[in-house]
Amino acid sequence: MSAPATPPVKLRPEIVALPAYRQGKTVEGGFKLSSNENPFDPLPGVLKAAQAANEVLNRYPNGFAPELSARLANRHNVDLSQVIIGAGSVALLAQFVIAAAGAGDEVIYSWRSFEAYPLLPVMSGAVSVQVPNRPDHGHDLPAMAAAITERTRLVIVCTPNNPTSTIVTKTEFAEFMALVPSDLLVILDEAYGEFVTDPDAVSGFPLLASYPNLVVLRTFSKAYGLAGLRIGYGLGPTAVIDAARSASIPLSVTHQAQQAALASLDHEGELLERVGHIAALRTTIWKGLTAQGWSVPEPQGNFVWLATGDDTNEAVAILTRNGIMARPFHPEGIRISIGESESVEKLLLSTEEIVQNLSKRRAAQPVR
Ligand SMILES: *Cc1c(COP(=O)(O)O)cnc(C)c1O
Repeated sequence: MSAPATPPVKLRPEIVALPAYRQGKTVEGGFKLSSNENPFDPLPGVLKAAQAANEVLNRYPNGFAPELSARLANRHNVDLSQVIIGAGSVALLAQFVIAAAGAGDEVIYSWRSFEAYPLLPVMSGAVSVQVPNRPDHGHDLPAMAAAITERTRLVIVCTPNNPTSTIVTKTEFAEFMALVPSDLLVILDEAYGEFVTDPDAVSGFPLLASYPNLVVLRTFSKAYGLAGLRIGYGLGPTAVIDAARSASIPLSVTHQAQQAALASLDHEGELLERVGHIAALRTTIWKGLTAQGWSVPEPQGNFVWLATGDDTNEAVAILTRNGIMARPFHPEGIRISIGESESVEKLLLSTEEIVQNLSKRRAAQPVR
């Protein structure tokens, strides 16, 4: 790879230093299991709603999505002023970071976690404080609480955690919140909340009434399969939501996205059936991997985590050769999304090949 070019104009050095994003490659005829997307085609009713919205392409959308906000407020029993809609929940995360953390302020999150987290504090001039995951790949919440300082303005808790697919339990979260000052914002990022089957997992919405400093984020991208339209939402205390609204890029939530999200709520039964199907495939894959000898945290998102460590690049090359596109995080591990039913056999054959290859190589090497 060539060195990044020196920009011809004066730019913020911390932004220039960020690695430029390059979209993952896709393989012809293979399975794209690298972006935690929903493998199902959009439901006809949802597609129709989005297409009908095209007829007013010449008009600006109502960026605050009043109809969708009202639906969500009603369903979660909160005031309309407590709902915020964004162009994906990543956009909302950025808005909350901008609203809470300015130059020199600190944002705490666990690591490894969602790839977007490190970028957001940089944009607002704030500083990331990354707290390493526990050996079982879950959040170390006591350590995250211990990392809070005078400069901390935001803590992000991701459950299920992307990319390790681990959850935070109700008890862990309650103990954590008891340690957090009540004037420090906590965001519970539940992008994969609909896929959770573990009854001990925390769920944010019922807790909103208990904590004046809690915001819960959800998205239509994953379980509802609208990743391409960019729409997500958050619920929280009115004054915090208002601040995040003020930090939004105006009119970024399109009319198509709003209409498709509304139609998705109308077809929720069917969509949640698909979610159940994906969760069942996840169990099949997890059991298959465990039988092959992998130690995989019990997955609760629509993806599994292989802690391949230093062997990550080699292991991902084997997956790629077999037509499985996964997301490598060298030298930690590989995230593999749960995709089409047809991908399962190929995936498990590939992971078996990885086990065989690596153990062969280890046997050939003198033990250090
Ligand atoms: C995918 C994802 C999101 C949100 O995605 P959007 O498409 O922007 O709604 C948020 N948080 C995590 C952890 C994710 O993996």
